[in-house]
Amino acid sequence: MTKQQQQPVFPQVSGKAILVINCGSSSLKFSLIQPECGTTLLSGLAEYLTTAQARINIKYNIGLSNEEQLATSALVAPFDHQVALSTLVNKLVQLNLVDSIVAVGHRVVHGGEHYAQPTLINTNVKQTIAKLAKLAPLHNPANLIGINACQQAFSKLPQVAVFDTAFHQSMPEKAYLYGLPFELYQQHNIRRYGFHGTSHYFVAKQAAKLLNKPLVQCSFISAHLGNGCSVTVIKNGESVDTSMGMTPLEGVMMGTRSGDVDAGIIFHLVEQLGFSIKQVDTLLNKKSGLLGLSQLSNDCRTLEAAMLDKSHPKSVQAKLALTVFCYRIAKSIASFSASLHELDGLIFTGGIGENSAWVRQEIISQLGLLNFHLCEKSNQATRFGASGNIALNTARACWVIATNEEWVIAEQSAQLLTSNSAGKL
Ligand code: AMP
Repeated sequence: MTKQQQQPVFPQVSGKAILVINCGSSSLKFSLIQPECGTTLLSGLAEYLTTAQARINIKYNIGLSNEEQLATSALVAPFDHQVALSTLVNKLVQLNLVDSIVAVGHRVVHGGEHYAQPTLINTNVKQTIAKLAKLAPLHNPANLIGINACQQAFSKLPQVAVFDTAFHQSMPEKAYLYGLPFELYQQHNIRRYGFHGTSHYFVAKQAAKLLNKPLVQCSFISAHLGNGCSVTVIKNGESVDTSMGMTPLEGVMMGTRSGDVDAGIIFHLVEQLGFSIKQVDTLLNKKSGLLGLSQLSNDCRTLEAAMLDKSHPKSVQAKLALTVFCYRIAKSIASFSASLHELDGLIFTGGIGENSAWVRQEIISQLGLLNFHLCEKSNQATRFGASGNIALNTARACWVIATNEEWVIAEQSAQLLTSNSAGKL
């Protein structure tokens, strides 16, 4: 197909776009986003990279609803991140979109205490991200693979790192220090960092818009409930405490992560039950949470369906897992009232927070002392991308807001380029 034939496919494309990359060790998620309005021009996922199942899917979000399977026709597996990106570049050239891209914005999981802001990537920044891999061994090296691959594929474009931890750098000492010997913090950076920062920031900004108040005058508790879950308390627009810690394992219970447990359990597992440290790691990160307690699934939809179907063999267990999950989240939300003098409201986001009316009701039913009471009708109606206040008029506000981390990354990358005059926006 010629370029001229492709042209009408994207009639609305005007202005500049940011390519947003979220790179894992065997996957690469990408979206092309217009930073001012958040329009996603295309998005996609390359997965099972470097294996025989490697594939890449690209979804066009403007003017087309079709999804193109490129792997089988255009690529022979196994292929790696670099090949996936070259395929994307070819597609962007073919669609006349490549010239609209002014920068690449990368989600980087751990910025330690170095980065409280989005940062233009240079050799020093890459070295720091590599050093911080000791705090995020699964994520930062994978993020670097994406950065290196994009530097090759888009050698003329500025690359920006947007850190998951950055929003939480405003936490005070009393929130980020553990009750451990102080030298562990001084010499080894052992402290709370928090994650899901771009998501908590985005939904807080949206809630402030709904309140018609500047974000700096707002205080919220935000519950990001997806496969990973975290609760953050936002005071005057800044994160002042969050449930995830030095790693994403701490805090509320999650899909496969335990969240908080008595650290003594780890000694018991090792010393009395013969677990290796690797086995404890796998147990707490991959086999616990909803999956571990239900003995069925980490997927909230599967558990809700099993709970409601009394003939399901795991019905009771599914209900137990969801009940513990909700209670621990309610406890975390209530505990964060210690960080605030005022509270504009609570925000639910993430796959579970945005969609599960049952989970929201179960959590809120335990927070009556904080004057949280849901309107049953609004709670049922606000799902599948809908946003809004689901509380009774007389109660404290409780919003459901669909998160959009990619838009934050695009927006912050664009703002950085504008303020640095490094880009062409
Ligand atoms: P995320 O990690 O944000 O993509 O969220 C994934 C979680 O959201 C999984 O546990 C899904 O089961 C859950 N989820 C997605 N849609 C629904 C739904 N309609 N009802 C309940 N949970 C859902």
